Amino acid sequence: MTTKRIPIIAGNWKMNKTASEARDLATAIILLVKNVKNRDVVLAPPFTSLQAVAETIKKTDIALASQNLYWEDKGAYTGEISAEMLLELGCKYVIIGHSERRQYFGETDETVNKRLRQALNKGLLPIVCVGETLDERESGKANQVIKGQLKGALKDVTAAEMERVVVAYEPVWAIGTGKTATPKQAQEIHQFIRANIKALYDDATAAALRIQYGGSVTPDNVSTLMAMPDIDGALVGGASLKPESFAALVKFT
Ligand code: PEP
Repeated sequence: MTTKRIPIIAGNWKMNKTASEARDLATAIILLVKNVKNRDVVLAPPFTSLQAVAETIKKTDIALASQNLYWEDKGAYTGEISAEMLLELGCKYVIIGHSERRQYFGETDETVNKRLRQALNKGLLPIVCVGETLDERESGKANQVIKGQLKGALKDVTAAEMERVVVAYEPVWAIGTGKTATPKQAQEIHQFIRANIKALYDDATAAALRIQYGGSVTPDNVSTLMAMPDIDGALVGGASLKPESFAALVKFT
């Protein structure tokens, strides 16, 4: 059975771009990608720039994402942001469990799961990140790590809910390092992720799941990565901050 999965290219701006800079970047991207069809294009600016980008992309097909959310609805959680706040600003997607959050902000599989559940309950589409460190890869543990991250993140998530989930495979050693996984290395893990989803759910859920690759994706390597059968898009950091390079990624052939 072949399932058509629409490629999804998302720009994770991380802690870059003030609101006015974000507006300029989004405006430049819109001009460059406006005629692109059959691609889901997503921008994930920092929280403080969500409104500016929301206003800028309003009349386009580009979707807005936040880089995180908190799992409670509201209350005394200083510094956190709720799903409702994101929805009111027009967010459609939310990135969850990025390795920088796991590495610097104490994110665990359990908190990833809480955020994921909250996103699904509130109607946001989660992009859930998994990926191994260099040590884990070199000691032959990549598959085991990813299997554990998937199982933890997807606890109590139903097959129906999985239709709204995107998984991003982001090897930690490839993020922001200029070292990309080879298409073969990436494909092996993407295939492994799909097999795990099949084991946790069923054939149809696995076949429909979109799995993005992330880790130093550039206009030079995007086509060979996207040509792999289980790679359905890219989650892009550095190259998403320049309109020309992000547009080139969106337009990969
Ligand atoms: C990311 O942060 O999700 C990422 C993949 O970064 P970069 O493209 O810069 O490696």
